[in-house]
Amino acid sequence: MKPDTRGYFGEFGGRFVPEVLIAALEELDAAVNEAFADPGFWREYNVILRDYVGRPSPLYRCERFAADSAATLLMKREDTNHTGAHKINNAVGQALLARRMGKTRLIAETGAGQHGVAVATVGAKFGLPVDVYMGAVDVERQSLNVFVMQLLGAQVHPVSSGSQTLKDAVNEAFRVWCERVEDSFYVLGSVVGAHPYPYLVRELQKVIGIEARRQCMERFGRLPSDVVACVGGGSNAIGLFAGFIDDQRVQLWGVEAGGEGVATGHSAASLGAGSVGVLHGSRSYVLQDDEGQVREAHSISAGLDYPGVGPEHAFLKGSGRATYVDVTDAEALEAFNQFARSEGIIPALESAHAIAFARELATHRGPDDLILVSLSGRGEKDLAQVRCRG
Ligand SMILES: *Cc1c(COP(=O)(O)O)cnc(C)c1O
Repeated sequence: MKPDTRGYFGEFGGRFVPEVLIAALEELDAAVNEAFADPGFWREYNVILRDYVGRPSPLYRCERFAADSAATLLMKREDTNHTGAHKINNAVGQALLARRMGKTRLIAETGAGQHGVAVATVGAKFGLPVDVYMGAVDVERQSLNVFVMQLLGAQVHPVSSGSQTLKDAVNEAFRVWCERVEDSFYVLGSVVGAHPYPYLVRELQKVIGIEARRQCMERFGRLPSDVVACVGGGSNAIGLFAGFIDDQRVQLWGVEAGGEGVATGHSAASLGAGSVGVLHGSRSYVLQDDEGQVREAHSISAGLDYPGVGPEHAFLKGSGRATYVDVTDAEALEAFNQFARSEGIIPALESAHAIAFARELATHRGPDDLILVSLSGRGEKDLAQVRCRG
């Protein structure tokens, strides 16, 4: 489904930004509609996904993980992509758009650095200078990713306002974009932000669901009973869901980060523990206090550690088409270890949330059921942290 012309999915989405950005978003919206209607755009995007990213990504049938359940677990292997996660699909598409629009520089925010690395990568490939804004605390915590971005030729700017983390980096990147809208393209990393970003990013991640649906039909001759993905901003989930959204019998599950447990108040479960509000340009669910102050998110997994969520997920929650659950740090860590030992694949901690829930779901399904899981990224980036936790 397309959002309405004002960018709403039901009551969620929209454009809550300063006046200067409205014109920039309208220019982007026009460019998106023009590019998406041009087969030449998709041809070039698909060639890059094939030869540079390494698509189609495999569909892998688990052999030993959750083997005591009758249902079959299938992993959509976004971890095999160049740079190790699904984020590159989106970065490639937005870089192509930037070039089409005649923009000469890319701006991006990053939390843990994964999106920053994806943008720095496409910046190098397309010969576009990249400025990445990153909270000063995150610059400290994620020094390896900072080094990688610099190696790829990007400038990393530490942001020392507020809590010096992702939400402050987004605010700063927005501010810089306001100053230089003419020559700069803002590459947003998930299905969040003002219209048209949630729609744009979904269309660029939809390849995950389209491939997975085709692979399921070819290999098994049927659709999965359930589709499961972790939800930070929600881009890998919406990309996978998009392939199945019209198949009403396929149940869609989004897994948020429960952190120390949703009841403790230390989680990143915006849909599960938040309320309706505005964050970073759109209306959706937000972790906030009674005064509307944004609360800090908590998760072992940096990619899920965001106090908001994409507006289309808020809509799917309301309509009941998708169901949102949460998995705690401890449960994700246990699944991370178990999955590594039983399949020889180290998943990203984000993906381990989806894997933990899928294993639980499998105990409620029968031998004919296929459970499709988004293995959104590889876990090498998380090794130091997992090692610390023992
Ligand atoms: C960034 C990231 C996520 C979370 O982002 P979404 O937009 O919710 O997909 C999940 N998994 C991995 C591996 C990531 O790097």
